Amino acid sequence: MTTEPTAPARREHALLDRAGPEPDPEPVGEVNADGDGPFFLICDHAGNAVPKALGDLGLPQEERDRHIGIDIGALGVALGLAERLGAPLVYQRYSRLVIDCNRRPEATSCMGEIADGTRVPGNAGLDERARRARVAEIMEPYHARITARLDARAAAGRPTILVAVHSFTPRLRAAPADRPWIVGLCWFHADRFSRHLLAALAEQDPTLRLGENEPYTVDMVNDYSIPVHGEGRGLPYAEIEVRQDRIATPADEAAWADRLAQALRRAAVTFEAETGRET
Ligand SMILES: [Zn+2]
Repeated sequence: MTTEPTAPARREHALLDRAGPEPDPEPVGEVNADGDGPFFLICDHAGNAVPKALGDLGLPQEERDRHIGIDIGALGVALGLAERLGAPLVYQRYSRLVIDCNRRPEATSCMGEIADGTRVPGNAGLDERARRARVAEIMEPYHARITARLDARAAAGRPTILVAVHSFTPRLRAAPADRPWIVGLCWFHADRFSRHLLAALAEQDPTLRLGENEPYTVDMVNDYSIPVHGEGRGLPYAEIEVRQDRIATPADEAAWADRLAQALRRAAVTFEAETGRET
């Protein structure tokens, strides 16, 4: 008589080890949860942690450290902005190669098999269960935290300007030349606050090369954060992209946090004057 081998007990989600001696990091980071003022900051690509269960994704460290894995410098700028503006910040600690929290889960680029010319072996042929675990354990808690905080602000009648902090690589591998912009702002329908921020940045430094919907546009079908939390809620927002070579050191991150904080404050004033909205 033969018996079926006993299947190991399956937890519903089985990606992050949160209880072992060296646990995987908590996906969601947050500072200044009770911060005052109109700004609410998010940073989708703040970290490049990889769950232990996924090893190294089949990539050397230098690949996981480049822009395909993380928005270099973005967390430093976002933390600096949170401090200077006294604003809440919610950020996400896992590599965008594990799951890109600014993509819809069904988008090909959410757990892409190729990123800027690099094949990602750890993302090859993922089955539904593996995809679901990344969504359920990393992406959903992050966006649920943002949703809860924005719901609470709305319930309290607090006006909110959503600010998404990103950084971009000066040059993609296949590109013939560097991208010229130092700071880019990206939007879909709601460009009104972005226009004020562009004006404030230009006033601050007329020589600054600003990108309008560069280096990207907001893709309402595949992107997540601005379509859902910004456009979806009808909030004024800014998606800020800073070129990574300008925020490559802690001193540079702090200098850009100073500049952006000043420009955001100025933009809030002119935005309020235009709309009569109290921020
Ligand atoms: Zn980003």
